[in-house]
Amino acid sequence: MPQTAQVLANSSLETSLAEARERFIAGNPRSRAAHLEATAVMPGGNTRTVLFYTPFPLTMIRGSGCRLWDADGHEYVDLLGEYTAGIYGHNNSLIRSAIDRALDDGWNLGGHGLMEAQLARLICDRFPGIDLVRFTNSGTEANLMALGTAAAVTGRRSVLVFDGGYHGGVLYFRDGGIPTNVPYRWIVAQYNDPQNAVALVRQHAPDLAAVLVEPMLGGGGCIPADPGFLHALRSATDEAGALLIFDEVMTSRMSSGGQQKRLGITPDLTTLGKYIGGGMSFGAFGGRADIMARYDPRRADAIPHAGTFNNNVLTMAAGVAGLTHLFTPAAADALFARGEALRARLNLLSDGLAMCWSGLGSLMTVHFQTNIPSRTADIAPDRGTKELFFLEMLNRGFYLARRGMLALSLEIGDRECDAFCAAVGDFIASHRSLLGRTSR
Ligand code: PMP
Repeated sequence: MPQTAQVLANSSLETSLAEARERFIAGNPRSRAAHLEATAVMPGGNTRTVLFYTPFPLTMIRGSGCRLWDADGHEYVDLLGEYTAGIYGHNNSLIRSAIDRALDDGWNLGGHGLMEAQLARLICDRFPGIDLVRFTNSGTEANLMALGTAAAVTGRRSVLVFDGGYHGGVLYFRDGGIPTNVPYRWIVAQYNDPQNAVALVRQHAPDLAAVLVEPMLGGGGCIPADPGFLHALRSATDEAGALLIFDEVMTSRMSSGGQQKRLGITPDLTTLGKYIGGGMSFGAFGGRADIMARYDPRRADAIPHAGTFNNNVLTMAAGVAGLTHLFTPAAADALFARGEALRARLNLLSDGLAMCWSGLGSLMTVHFQTNIPSRTADIAPDRGTKELFFLEMLNRGFYLARRGMLALSLEIGDRECDAFCAAVGDFIASHRSLLGRTSR
């Protein structure tokens, strides 16, 4: 864009943002009051950083199907889908009755239950890389257990991860890593750069316990891994005697057996989370029988793995109901196809503009740049357009992640996709001057 046009676009972005923020503040007094009250007892009024945004976050009070209502009574089409945990939408009646049935029999029984082996069976049958599985309470915990497993079986302490990777609250590798990351010897490689990753695996082989990778960077901008990159990791870890861990907490939805099944690449360990517990707190780690057998308590040398709520009856019952009746293999394929079609439509709408959508299947993220990023370094710094888009979509009745991510639930149908495309078209028409070409 010529310099004068850029100056005009910047000032028009500031004006549009100021207007959108004012409208948001004026329209959400109850959310604002709830936020202010919460700041007295929680830092920033927040207990989950990803949900925070300025001027203040919305307080959601009710959900039904694919719709949400906030504290000020606004209704939204929920395109966020609880960052992928909400695949079944809100208040699904089958999940609800499975939970009700479990509640009828009591919920802190302090023993083995009937449901955990059923959920484990469903998971082992679906994921090619999971022979045996154990449950945790979150995806973070699942990754901690997978890393602990790798360190225990290899006797090594280094772990290769990727810039922009997110594996949980204490496993976040934005700009090299956050101060609260757990203390492994981290080696941070470039995502989708097989040469860089393979060289680092070889260099650190003697102490390398594992390579931990998301088959698509989720929080890092919905950037799918090139199959060749994952194949290279598979052979490099084999060569180095390190474990390959696929974090499929987000990508497990890409088919009935996750992205590993779609690509035909089998990791040594897989971590799961999100929707697989039917929307209740959930995590799981599983993998090769010889590795997971180390947790068999009948063995004299068994590694202990505890967790009061690992087999809690609500998660187990909801999880079994969801995988058995709702997220069937056919439903997984249909959701993938719906997402691919929606992303193609959205990219057509913004063709030729500094706006594009990256992603895979039902997960996608908007970027305000001409070229769809295939590496973290391809993502252009945001000048504020993402915030404007977010506020403008709220104003049009669509809820998505502040960072521009969508995670379609099974409740999203053609009507919602058509309406969202119309809203995005309207956004483009209203702000075309801000969407001049900027490539990276
Ligand atoms: N791994 C990935 C790829 C994730 O997206 C997330 C959550 N966003 C996690 C791990 C952590 O899961 P949880 O929030 O359940 O701890």
